[in-house]
Amino acid sequence: MQLVNRYATLPPRFYARMTASPVAAPRLLKLNVPLARHLGLDPEWLAGPEGVALLAGHAFPEGLTPVATAYAGHQFGQFVPQLGDGRALLLGDGVDEDGRPYEIQLKGSGPTPFSRRGDGRAALGPVLREYLLSEAMAALGVPTTRALAAVATGESVIREILLPGAVFARVAASHIRVGSFQYFAARQDVEGLKALADFAIARHYPDLAEGNAPYLAFFGAVVAAQARLIARWMALGFIHGVMNTDNCAVSGETIDYGPAAFLDEYDPGKSFSSIDQGGRYAYANQPRIGMWNLARFAEALLPLIAEDAEAAAAAVQPVLMRFPETFEAEFGALMRRKIGLATQEEGDKELLGGFLDLLMHAKADFTLSFRRLDDPDRLGDLEGFPAWRAQWEARLERDGGRDAARARILAACPAVIPRNHRVEAVIDAALRDDFAPFEALLDAVTHPFRDNPDYERPPTQQERVHATFCG
Ligand code: AMP
Ligand code: MG
Ligand code: MG
Repeated sequence: MQLVNRYATLPPRFYARMTASPVAAPRLLKLNVPLARHLGLDPEWLAGPEGVALLAGHAFPEGLTPVATAYAGHQFGQFVPQLGDGRALLLGDGVDEDGRPYEIQLKGSGPTPFSRRGDGRAALGPVLREYLLSEAMAALGVPTTRALAAVATGESVIREILLPGAVFARVAASHIRVGSFQYFAARQDVEGLKALADFAIARHYPDLAEGNAPYLAFFGAVVAAQARLIARWMALGFIHGVMNTDNCAVSGETIDYGPAAFLDEYDPGKSFSSIDQGGRYAYANQPRIGMWNLARFAEALLPLIAEDAEAAAAAVQPVLMRFPETFEAEFGALMRRKIGLATQEEGDKELLGGFLDLLMHAKADFTLSFRRLDDPDRLGDLEGFPAWRAQWEARLERDGGRDAARARILAACPAVIPRNHRVEAVIDAALRDDFAPFEALLDAVTHPFRDNPDYERPPTQQERVHATFCG
């Protein structure tokens, strides 16, 4: 195992050094072999006894320095000065085949000094859910943590009921969050703040280190990365579900899938998460919340921007204000492609809004309705569609015609997303120790642009899932 742990070279107050927490019976449920190879790891070793022990957090090979990292965060708007990896361990980092840095983290690997009242463990269901959703997002071209492995512990975890325990191994460019900066800012630890910013810049935005005002440029890079990320979520009907600042990665990757879910019918106010009763993190609120989180990030960075607080605030403000324009530009481009457009014209936004209105009123399926624009006769009866279609087809005439549009629609609009009812069915089967449905769904969602009549089907009334949980 060729992993160093660069985060563990930061000062000791950044983390707690951890040892393994043995479990009853570690058993490999799934290894992402192509990803392991891409990371330069040996899949055979990982699937062997030492590898599985490592992936379960059961026993670590010589030389590994796992840490639980310290971070803070705003949870549903409330600042919590100390959160940290309460059930996660950062094993170390490496460089992938493309020369990009990555980190491996275990989730559910046992208690840490940051566990508070939690047990440090994860249940099988949420582990499989995160595996499926993160791999689907990667296949959809969205920046995300990746699933490396899922391992059963052979132990039970207590939630409302006893459930089988599991450990999830995930990969990210880094797990540094807005909340990581807030941790040091809240302690007025400017030295720590600076060390973390320098570390994050070196890892994610190395070109910025050379410029003048590197911290302001870093802030700008994170603003842009988050705006683009959230635009991608919105274009896919993805609802993260817990956009707390501790779940907002400075790399611009989607992180911490907990109650994340995709829209079935188009409903801008939709939220699935059982702990989001107020709808703070509802689908249509995500851009606004993303910007709110970045405002908290700006506040944390102020001491690095300028000595004078007012001067620092004046410097970050215009950079923060780039969020809406970056989001709008990216979202607009993604959505234009979804209706088959290659160019941009005045009126496109209204054209698109018109289609979304039809979907909303008809409670039509978000994903499939766009996909079906490739052959609108298959859309079924969508009230008001003929009038919209006439406008749209006239617009397509000015944009290279139907055939070119068709190809763009098929490339931009997935057929398959990890629908809640399918994910739930996979979890039910896994609880009976049947992993065939997991494998089948994983295959379907990692080929999202392939027509797939079975997996693209929206839920029936009875199949519909109304709530998702953090686990
Ligand atoms: P999350 O909502 O999963 O992003 O987690 C928020 C915070 O709660 C983080 O500090 C987690 O480490 C912690 N946490 C969540 N679940 C557990 C658990 N079962 N045991 C210990 N800490 C947990
Ligand atoms: Mg320490
Ligand atoms: Mg989290």
